[in-house]
Amino acid sequence: MGSGSERWRIRPLELPRPWRYCASCSTARAFVCSERFRVNANKKSLDVWLKYRCESCDDVWKFPLFERRSVSDLGAQLDGFARHDVAAVWKYAFDVARLRPHVIKIDTDVRVEVERTSLACDAGSDEHLCIQFEVPFPCDIRLDRLLAGELGISRSALERRVAPELREALRKRVRDGQTYLLSKNDLAADRQNGGTSVL
Ligand SMILES: [Zn+2]
Repeated sequence: MGSGSERWRIRPLELPRPWRYCASCSTARAFVCSERFRVNANKKSLDVWLKYRCESCDDVWKFPLFERRSVSDLGAQLDGFARHDVAAVWKYAFDVARLRPHVIKIDTDVRVEVERTSLACDAGSDEHLCIQFEVPFPCDIRLDRLLAGELGISRSALERRVAPELREALRKRVRDGQTYLLSKNDLAADRQNGGTSVL
């Protein structure tokens, strides 16, 4: 029997889709991030946006990130904007608090990949599997859906393996730093695949 603890790192495979009123479609639509910045210079004043396109008609929406800033205000970030740096794109595309005032709603129910690592420190036991979640980006993933998909079991089978006081948490979204305890009863056969899987 290996370690009773695992770290599950939840990596999104796509960016959230903000919903806005699209003037061309005359209705609310999901907008898809183009993963490109737009920087506009007016004398020494810079404006920066992240570009999105309407999922239906391809109309462009520019998500305002910075307005009337100097070069020194933006510093090293400017280089990232010029290169459409992926890490910078992801940082702002997942900045839900910054997006919210500009949109109707944000669809953060994105596809994710789970990287499972056995941990040397054994917070679990032979009877229990202790899972530590790392959720570096705010994805809207329900814990029961994640566990059932990753362990290859039904949600009802999953419910039987958790203590009654932990069942409420199953219906909530997975949070960064969350720890969850699961009974290993009947689980061994389901846990052959391990490694990485796409939900
Ligand atoms: Zn449209």
